[in-house]
Amino acid sequence: EPLLVATDLRKTYGRTPALDGAELTVRAGEVVAVMGPSGSGKSTLLHCLAGIVTPDSGEVRYRGRQLSAMSDGERSALRRTDFGFVFQFGQLVPELTCLENVAMPMRLAGRRRKDAEALAATWLDRLEVADIAGQRPGEVSGGQGQRVAVARALVGDPRVVFADEPTGALDSLNGERVMRLLTEAAHDTGAAVVLVTHEPRVAAYSDREIVVRDGKSRDMERVS
Ligand code: ADP
Ligand code: ADP
Repeated sequence: EPLLVATDLRKTYGRTPALDGAELTVRAGEVVAVMGPSGSGKSTLLHCLAGIVTPDSGEVRYRGRQLSAMSDGERSALRRTDFGFVFQFGQLVPELTCLENVAMPMRLAGRRRKDAEALAATWLDRLEVADIAGQRPGEVSGGQGQRVAVARALVGDPRVVFADEPTGALDSLNGERVMRLLTEAAHDTGAAVVLVTHEPRVAAYSDREIVVRDGKSRDMERVS
């Protein structure tokens, strides 16, 4: 059984249609790039898959369970235990060091500081940013900050990482470095990645590409 299955998703904001029959299947461990022009519904699709936005109709099943049938508490618990998130920017807590940022999800899950920070340190090392562990997000480069964000998304061993334009604020060299490290780490841990991007060079790191146009997406519109 696939990990995530979205069927005939429809979502309208006021009179603006964001999704108009979108479909997507994500299998365990695969990296899927969701492509398409600005405003085509990519972010809304990702938010529906992650249970952040409820579609007007259609359904999302995660490991066989319909997200809309869960309570808000169950959905937020699922996001903490099974999902990781990377966004374009602004996701790190500015008052915390990079190490503390990566340790935070585990601290919130009740892990002891020492254990959480030891594991966070191994993830910073894996993402090739061990040297900035003690610095705050405002003191590091955009590419370093995104690698810290990737470490934080992966530290809880999620089954799915949702990444919305994770390289959107980076130059192409740093963007490709983030994508290489993200996809290598995901393949190592077996996490699936749902990657929203409008950049073909970023999508090239995926196993599969899906195109969204005017709120419609189909798995069969597979490009590779
Ligand atoms: P993309 O990620 O492809 O740029 P989005 O999913 O962000 O597309 O947006 C799809 C359409 O829905 C756009 O017209 C956008 O302006 C609109 N939209 C998205 N989110 C909201 C929202 N929270 N409120 C109102 N309109 C929204
Ligand atoms: P992206 O660049 O990933 O497409 P956007 O900048 O379109 O993302 O949207 C960022 C956030 O703002 C999202 O949570 C989206 O739902 C919301 N949003 C997008 N378009 C609108 C809109 N027209 N009105 C209100 N909120 C919107």
